[in-house]
Amino acid sequence: MKVKDLPPSPSLEKYSQIVGEESIRRLEELADRLKGLKLQEINSARFGGGVAELLSSYVPFVNMLGIDIQWNVMEAEPSFFKITKTLHNFLQGRDGFSLSMADDYRETIRKNEGLIEEDCDVVTIHDPQPLGLIELLTPEVYEKHKMIWRCHVHLETVSSERMVQIQEFMRSMVERYHANIFSTFQFLPLWLVPSFIIPPFIDPLSDKNRELTAQEVGETLERYGINSQKPLITQVSRFDVFKNPIGVIKAFKLVRQKTPCQLLLVGGGASDDPEYQQVLNDTRRVAGRNPEIHILDLPPNSHREINAFQRASQVIVQKSVKEGFGLTVTEGLWKGKPVVGGKVGGIPLQIRDGWNGFLVSTVEEAAEKILYLLRHPKEAEEMGKKGREFVAQNFLLPRGVKDHLATIDQLINGKIVSKETIISYHPWY
Ligand code: UDP
Repeated sequence: MKVKDLPPSPSLEKYSQIVGEESIRRLEELADRLKGLKLQEINSARFGGGVAELLSSYVPFVNMLGIDIQWNVMEAEPSFFKITKTLHNFLQGRDGFSLSMADDYRETIRKNEGLIEEDCDVVTIHDPQPLGLIELLTPEVYEKHKMIWRCHVHLETVSSERMVQIQEFMRSMVERYHANIFSTFQFLPLWLVPSFIIPPFIDPLSDKNRELTAQEVGETLERYGINSQKPLITQVSRFDVFKNPIGVIKAFKLVRQKTPCQLLLVGGGASDDPEYQQVLNDTRRVAGRNPEIHILDLPPNSHREINAFQRASQVIVQKSVKEGFGLTVTEGLWKGKPVVGGKVGGIPLQIRDGWNGFLVSTVEEAAEKILYLLRHPKEAEEMGKKGREFVAQNFLLPRGVKDHLATIDQLINGKIVSKETIISYHPWY
């Protein structure tokens, strides 16, 4: 996919009004050092999920900085995505992956031969689905490239037994990359690979996050039959067991016993996620015919609608039980909403417990904190303000681009990156 096929990025001037001229100036300086390079991004879905969300903004923005960049999506049959979903789940701590699946995985990978462009200089491969593409490179082509693997999933590396099981399969691929990027230290694999720690980001000027008028927010609620007069609790997520939509319904039911409110679960699928229909069915069954629980299965480009729902909410919830980062948390905080999030993966990077939201582990805790926020609107508003400021300082697109380009700069112009290298751009991680 060429940049011209994507919606254009707003101007740098617009971003500098949000993050300051100095940040943009430094970004331009960095980009100048990389001019002339050709970059390629490869993932497994054009829409749906956080990676597609990131790349939709990242690619046009990098291009606007004067760097040649393209984005390609690997092609595969649904049976391949069943395997990679099992692998994804395994990496996040659920059983099911066996090495016998590795052969089928490699067969599909082989069908994508040629996806890595020979004339690109730096290729970033996102997540486990296209990870194996590196094995297809001939030594000559490999020599000409800098290869980066960016892992967005919650890697359960604490269980060494789990890693031993997967080691043969994953390690041989991961070790070949010149750099590996993880969202937090917690996800560093147990074997030594050159690692960079970079948290993801949101685009403040995308349809998902830009300002909306109260009228547009009101009209969106009306269109979907949501009462604008009753407090709204919202979780936006792919329908995935690790996002725990059923736990959210249980928490809501506890809150509802104490105060009037309604719940909105907004989700959808991703072309590389074969389990979503089952999870959606289960979620609907648990919700029953409760008119105060709205479950919306929206098309993947429903950015403005999701933006409006987040803005209309009193509390945003992300009660995941595993979470690579949780862009939905970032999106909620950016809209000035307190977020009640699972104390897992990347969520604690974003929520400081009791400051801009709450970290919870159980359904009961989630219910207690949601109720607290509904009953203390002034405090909720204060938390929301802090959350927005926190995102402004740490999790916006220009910072994410700067860190990724700095990694490339390190590989191309920097000192030797070795197996022992661990570079974090954020001293407080
Ligand atoms: N999202 C969406 N439609 C949906 C569900 C999610 O647009 O039906 C977006 C959501 O707003 C966020 C991203 O997809 O930008 C999800 O990223 P996150 O990191 O929260 O989770 P992931 O899906 O990558 O596990």
